[in-house]
Amino acid sequence: MKDTPKHQGLRNQLAKLLEQKGITDKNVLDAIRKIPRHLFLNSSFEDFAYQDKAFPIAAGQTISQPYTVAFQSQLLDVKKEHKILEIGTGSGYQTAVLCTMGAKVYTIERQNELFKITSLLLPKLGIRPKHISFGDGYKGLPQYAPFDSIIVTAGAPFIPPALMAQLKIGGKLVIPLGEEHQIMTMLVRKNESQFEKHEFGEFRFVPLLEDKN
Ligand code: SAH
Repeated sequence: MKDTPKHQGLRNQLAKLLEQKGITDKNVLDAIRKIPRHLFLNSSFEDFAYQDKAFPIAAGQTISQPYTVAFQSQLLDVKKEHKILEIGTGSGYQTAVLCTMGAKVYTIERQNELFKITSLLLPKLGIRPKHISFGDGYKGLPQYAPFDSIIVTAGAPFIPPALMAQLKIGGKLVIPLGEEHQIMTMLVRKNESQFEKHEFGEFRFVPLLEDKN
């Protein structure tokens, strides 16, 4: 599949729509304008790739809705060279947004099929996360901690303690919390033991699963 001026036009429209929906971070909108979302999807979705919708990807998972990706990315307040841990690599689209914003991204996926597909796809598109790993996101990546921020892209029944421990002081953890539907939640680490909690309304995600299949 190719990236054409038509795709670019659809991306510009999508960025405009996200702006209308309240996304203000210029770097997030720039990344949405740059990344060819249709290349993260099966070719049968090519005509729909720039709708503001989630779509199925391999292993029964989904690529998040662009608004959700933009909303979570905006909450992270990404600065160039920020070290970010992502739980749930999935299609790699959210990874690509963070890399394009200049972050050093460490990402974990627990479905081997997706881990393999996405590890091959990202470099082909010129996207180079610092580290892609196959494993359990509940554990984080202690060997690379601490992180400036952590993003969880699946619905979590609780906040994994390991992720809180791997956050820098001043860092942000953005996680959709809940089983059936999720409340977008942000923890800001104040000091060694204190975290400030903020909530941002309801979203829907596939579940953050425990144990590997
Ligand atoms: N960021 C992805 C979202 C994919 S959906 C994208 O933009 O495409 C959420 C992903 O989290 C799925 O790929 C799912 O397999 C993965 N996941 C679920 N539980 C996990 C866990 N415990 N550790 C790591 N990844 C997990």
